[in-house]
Amino acid sequence: MVFAEPTSPPGVPSVASGRPDAWSAADGAALYGLDRWGEPYFGVGARGHVIVQPRGDRGGSLDLVELVRELQGRDLSLPLLIRFDDILEDRLERLHGAFERAIAQYGYNGRYQGVFPVKCNQQRHVVEQLVESGRRWHFGLEAGSKAELLIALSLLDDPDALMICNGYKDRRYIETAILARRLGRQPVVVIEQADEVERIIAASSALGGAPFIGIRAKLSARSTGRWGSSVGERAKFGLSIPDVLTTVERLREAGLLDDLRLLHFHIGSQINDIAVLKDALQEAGQIYAELTRLGAPMGFLDVGGGLGIDYDGSRTATAASTNYSLQNYANDVVATIRECCEPHGIRPPTLVSESGRALASHFSVLVFDVLGAGGRGETVPPPAEGEALILRNLRDTHALITAIAAEGGLEGDDAGERAVVERLQEAWNDALKFKEDALTAFRLGYLSLPERATAERLTWASCQAIARQLEGLPPGTVIPQELQALPAALAGTYYANLSVFRSAPDTWAIDQLFPVLPIHRLDERPTRLGSFADLTCDSDGKIARFIDRGQVKPLLELHGLRPGEPYWIGLFLGGAYQEVMGNLHNLFGSTNAVHIRLAAGGGYRVDHVVRGNTNAEVLEAMEHDPDLLLERLRLASEQAIGRGDLAISDARRLMAHLKASLEQTTYLEA
Ligand SMILES: *Cc1c(COP(=O)(O)O)cnc(C)c1O
Repeated sequence: MVFAEPTSPPGVPSVASGRPDAWSAADGAALYGLDRWGEPYFGVGARGHVIVQPRGDRGGSLDLVELVRELQGRDLSLPLLIRFDDILEDRLERLHGAFERAIAQYGYNGRYQGVFPVKCNQQRHVVEQLVESGRRWHFGLEAGSKAELLIALSLLDDPDALMICNGYKDRRYIETAILARRLGRQPVVVIEQADEVERIIAASSALGGAPFIGIRAKLSARSTGRWGSSVGERAKFGLSIPDVLTTVERLREAGLLDDLRLLHFHIGSQINDIAVLKDALQEAGQIYAELTRLGAPMGFLDVGGGLGIDYDGSRTATAASTNYSLQNYANDVVATIRECCEPHGIRPPTLVSESGRALASHFSVLVFDVLGAGGRGETVPPPAEGEALILRNLRDTHALITAIAAEGGLEGDDAGERAVVERLQEAWNDALKFKEDALTAFRLGYLSLPERATAERLTWASCQAIARQLEGLPPGTVIPQELQALPAALAGTYYANLSVFRSAPDTWAIDQLFPVLPIHRLDERPTRLGSFADLTCDSDGKIARFIDRGQVKPLLELHGLRPGEPYWIGLFLGGAYQEVMGNLHNLFGSTNAVHIRLAAGGGYRVDHVVRGNTNAEVLEAMEHDPDLLLERLRLASEQAIGRGDLAISDARRLMAHLKASLEQTTYLEA
């Protein structure tokens, strides 16, 4: 989809052109799948820039490239994490809208009340924003540890919102939850391990009051996907059915059954196949009904997380996608639970989901710059006087390939195309033979190093010329595998000012795919294939897996770098988990981050700026003392000055560099 430009700058070039090699912004959008996974937030403008519509189709848009330029003007250097708080709010609205529609459609006699799992993105501004935007639905928080409980307690001030308390719980965790109920909050302590019920009973009798209580059930329903092992009999969390019954009896004996309000299950993140969810819902619905029959008041059914994101826009049950929409998900939850309750005269529960990924993925965009590119050049070195025969042979082969390209365009029938392919193959065989000859000649001392370099350049230029030529052939032309592989052989490494371990750890840890693409020049046909290498010294520090409609490709279509011009890449849909799982590998710290809101009268405002870690901060995180470090180097300088090895002016320059580095972010300066 091509979005309208946010403003109409004068002199926007026309993108439609009659030439067969014409390439428009719409082609760029299609190539990178923007028109599939980007809807409704990301698209391309006619100038070939990524355009962001933070409120989806409700109006207002920003040119991402202009935005980055202006943020750079505020001294916010790349890599930069841009958080669109409007998108977060829009996701929240869509989630509630989907459940509201499902509830109306199925005549469900209950409501939906969600919570945000804090582990998905614990950044204060993010959690605050969700609580604030979610107030009208009494949207709550889910904590999975004591530290997250502290976040939930301090930020969730809505007495009607749920505060779901998951994870391992010690006595202090439970007592904190009980006291939170006295503060007027709604803490639900979810029993996930069989021994937790005894701790709840002990804490409740000591404090003379209980929290609300939930039970997490281990479902037997099958699962698929990466998190498949978080369900089933051997899951880490949750009670088996015998344990559920024992727990209910213990609560009854302790007089706490009246506080048992919620049944919880969680079958893992990013459910790809909706069939898996349906099975789980049926099983949980039956358990819920049984719990009410056992005399628990209940009232809430919490279906956990798992609502997936279609990272590659393929709508398939593959790892980077889902075979359902948000609306399908809500419909299935509502319809299935209704079926479990209504026929048995059981009051339908308030439906709770802990959807993290589905809420937080879209709102943040990571933009990084490319520092340079390695790869095969395509320049043809000019002929030297009295050039060696081998080099002249290579030069003639290159000329021949280019000439085939010119003739090929004239023929135009099947036989003609086949002839073109045959001649290209022949020429490539020649080129390879001449290159081998050149290497042999070099080894035997008949070719100089500069001559060998010329031979290699001519070979790659031939390779490039063949790749170009193949591109021009009509689709469906049969191309031998050897020639098909040539474009990949030309692939380059693009050096990214980024740490994958800090900013996109899941690409490395669990092979997660995120849409990655240049945020400008989308109206220009990409002529290179490449992958990204990051700043760390780790060979795993790379992005070399890209979305490809339900599949994965190892190389991405990219543009040649232009001297003096930046090349900016965006990594999209990384708002969930990436920032909080990132680590200090090679001591690359957090990046600069900004919160952007659409402004009422058009344009935007910068709500918060969160500065990235400085070198001093990451050193301190590893227990190093920056002052001590400076002092040691000062002493070493003094000694070197004393020995006469270092001039005083150089010592001063060294100390200035050290001090400035400590205060700067860990990334490269433009
Ligand atoms: C991780 C987790 C979630 C969030 O899952 P998403 O797939 O991100 O929605 C919800 N509930 C529990 C118990 C979790 O562990």
